[in-house]
Amino acid sequence: MIHIGNHVSSSAGFLAMGNKALELGGDTFAFFTRNPRGGKAKDIDEHDVNELLSLMKENNFGLLVAHAPYTMNLCAAKEDIREFAENMLADDLDRMEYLPGNYYNFHPGSHVGQGAEAGTDFIAGALNRHLKADQTTTVLLETMAGKGSEVGRTFEELRDIIDKVDHNEKLGVCFDTCHVWDAGYDIVNDLDGVLEDFDHVIGLDRLKAVHLNDSMNTCGSHKDRHQKIGQGEIGEEALRRVVTHPALQGKPFILETPNDDKGYTREIAMIREWMK
Ligand code: FE
Ligand code: FE
Ligand code: ZN
Repeated sequence: MIHIGNHVSSSAGFLAMGNKALELGGDTFAFFTRNPRGGKAKDIDEHDVNELLSLMKENNFGLLVAHAPYTMNLCAAKEDIREFAENMLADDLDRMEYLPGNYYNFHPGSHVGQGAEAGTDFIAGALNRHLKADQTTTVLLETMAGKGSEVGRTFEELRDIIDKVDHNEKLGVCFDTCHVWDAGYDIVNDLDGVLEDFDHVIGLDRLKAVHLNDSMNTCGSHKDRHQKIGQGEIGEEALRRVVTHPALQGKPFILETPNDDKGYTREIAMIREWMK
């Protein structure tokens, strides 16, 4: 069994997100901690958060996978952009503690010509300033497609970040099926081999969550264009093997497919069928 859900809108508050997930058939969900393009986050309403926590308990939800804004680039070339990103990270981590023990996922960033090594240094530096021994949140680095100068296109780059972070017991990885495929990992013909590689380089105990997406492009294309489940180059059979893989059971799976509510309801129901 896995937990399955999608990205829900956070504009109506925390309990509303939980209800939305249930309405679509989900038992986990993802949400943006603030406007995906950045900006200020809303104040936390503790009563609202607590209502979500009880709803999650009553309905046996899996862990939530909050998502940082796409604009949060901890390894930007410009110092003011890095500072802006770091402030966002610090504020998000404080806010995540209202939802104890869940996941906070972010895109490692784009090194914009400085090189992956400089990129992982900046990212680890920011994490070292803000990960705390007593935080309950596990921070997830997302596997990236390798579009442009994205850091995290290989398992080795993610390992590099983890190695440079002191409190790396607070770090995990979110495995995005579209991204790893686009990055050149052949999860269609050799899922076991890719997971073995992940295990050797990072360790499967770090794999905490999955972004379940099909891809519009071929393996190694470095494009990052998500497709509906079963309608892309990865295809239904391969994604079914991901969902039912023994190494991935119990984890939250988040759909980031181009769908409306009806489409998500259909995909979630289909994935529940696969689990039977
Ligand atoms: Fe992402
Ligand atoms: Fe993703
Ligand atoms: Zn993507």
